[in-house]
Amino acid sequence: MQELLERKKGLHRRVLIVDDEFIEREMLGNMLCDLYEVTYAGDGEIALEIIRRDMQMISLVILDLHMPGLDGYSLLKIIRSDSELRRIPVIVLTSEKGAEVKSLQLGAADFISKPYEAPDVIRARVGHSIELAEDSIIIHETERDSLTGLFNKEFFYEYGKRLDGQNDNMPMDAIVLDINRFHMVNELYGRAYGDLILKRIGRSIHELVQQTGGLACRSGSNSFGIYLPHSTDLRKMISQYTARINDIMDDRKISVRMGIYYDDGSASDMERRFDCARLACHRLRHNYTTCYDLYNAELHSKELHSERLIGDMDRALAEEQFRVYYQPKYSIRGERPVLSSAEALVRWQHPEFGMVSPGEFISLFENNGLIQKLDRYVWNEAAKQIRRWKEKFGITIPVSVNVSRVDIFDPLLGDILTEITGSNGLAPEKLLLEITESAYTDSSQQIVDTVASLRDRGFRIEMDDFGCGYSSLNMLTSLPIDALKLDMKFIRNICENKKDYRLVEIMIEIARLLEVPVIAEGVETKEQMELLKAAGCDIIQGYYFSKPLPADEFEKLIADRINGNAE
Ligand code: C2E
Ligand code: CA
Ligand code: CA
Repeated sequence: MQELLERKKGLHRRVLIVDDEFIEREMLGNMLCDLYEVTYAGDGEIALEIIRRDMQMISLVILDLHMPGLDGYSLLKIIRSDSELRRIPVIVLTSEKGAEVKSLQLGAADFISKPYEAPDVIRARVGHSIELAEDSIIIHETERDSLTGLFNKEFFYEYGKRLDGQNDNMPMDAIVLDINRFHMVNELYGRAYGDLILKRIGRSIHELVQQTGGLACRSGSNSFGIYLPHSTDLRKMISQYTARINDIMDDRKISVRMGIYYDDGSASDMERRFDCARLACHRLRHNYTTCYDLYNAELHSKELHSERLIGDMDRALAEEQFRVYYQPKYSIRGERPVLSSAEALVRWQHPEFGMVSPGEFISLFENNGLIQKLDRYVWNEAAKQIRRWKEKFGITIPVSVNVSRVDIFDPLLGDILTEITGSNGLAPEKLLLEITESAYTDSSQQIVDTVASLRDRGFRIEMDDFGCGYSSLNMLTSLPIDALKLDMKFIRNICENKKDYRLVEIMIEIARLLEVPVIAEGVETKEQMELLKAAGCDIIQGYYFSKPLPADEFEKLIADRINGNAE
């Protein structure tokens, strides 16, 4: 660039005159030698040699079209099709009319007719062509990223928008390509190697855009943007491109991720298309096995919804938007079913979304520790409720609460629960603890220890969703538990499917072996209830008796029990 600026000041500009006729060369040279350093070539081959050797120094080539050997047309073609040489402007010397148009079509910057016009005109033409070429190089260099030669971000968007403006409504796909953990590449292998990788990726993107049309840029230190006419074959193209990228990366564990907005009309302009592609790319940031992903509007709005719920959680707790519902459990051992306890199930009365079910937010909260706050709130509410009912009806209805797998790792778990029951005047066994079976299989030793210490404090543990967690029989016999709660999916088809019924029977036999009662949940019909009773199930929870209810509605069931009406 510096060299170019100096040349623009008039220094070091060299003009190469190519003509097989000595007189013509000299005449032209004389007209220009006051202003430029002039070099001569008497035929096409020598000219090409000089051009290749001194390409950085040559500001302009003046080329005679008719020469023996490599003629002017052929040399012009070579110069224009060579990516390094094409920046050199070429003025052709002609004596026929038709040749002017042809050479301009071949990419000549201008022409000079023989016999020569006035020297001033020729000088002006030469000066003008050189200026124009130099300006376009300077523009080119400010538009481009110096390392990869791709557009920089600003010009990329500028040209992309122009392209969209010219081709109204033409669908365009947008790709954001990032190099995974690029800072590590620099640190491990050095900056020079990092630059090499960037250059190689830049080149591969350049080739891709040449094949498909469109534009590309380097948009950040390790990030690229690719804007392509919409392709119905995008997946195929991307997998070919991915294979190409893998070749580029040597054997070092360098990989890229690509987020793709596949134009389905949902994003209206270039910037939105890239917003979508960036989101898809961002989703892959911790995923080193998948290298590309398509933006999906539905998925994205789900993610936004999840983010909203996470963001709203603290406020919801403070404003008591969480409601605890109670679903009754009935003992079916006797002649008539009797209300024996309840399960506390949380709901979120969200000011905007209405009633949100725990299926939507529990797993979200498990990923970021919010579940501990929520569970603690629910345990407190449940304990207070047991106390209120005891005060109101004179009987204690034990309530089971869900203990998330995340809670198990809280060293204060036992203290917190003891504090909750103690402050409400409850014996620990009145607040039953449901722990999902899969938590046992995930973290067996930790859970065995935690559960054992909770039982030492007097708490009772129910293993929730039993049958789903692949506990081995061997493991089960050594587990400290007080009840097995069969997973609903086994109950669903027991009436229609003999195998399912047999499975339930086996699970009940296991409970017998462990000497613990069996609870079946998700029981919706009388037939299911009766089959379970016949199989030896002790306690039933499900819509057959009642959906989860707000505390005040649940009181009717307590009143029924006191009055002796179970159903
Ligand atoms: P879960 O502990 O297995 O709770 C049983 C789920 O089955 C509840 O769904 C309940 O409403 C539903 N259910 C009960 N009877 C029937 C029936 O007859 N048919 C059908 N189809 N469903 C029935 P819910 O309330 O949507 O809760 C879903 C899950 O969310 C719970 O599954 C539990 O894992 C979790 N959860 C609920 N509240 C809490 C909480 O306070 N803390 C934690 N950590 N998890 C909770
Ligand atoms: Ca449960
Ligand atoms: Ca369950």
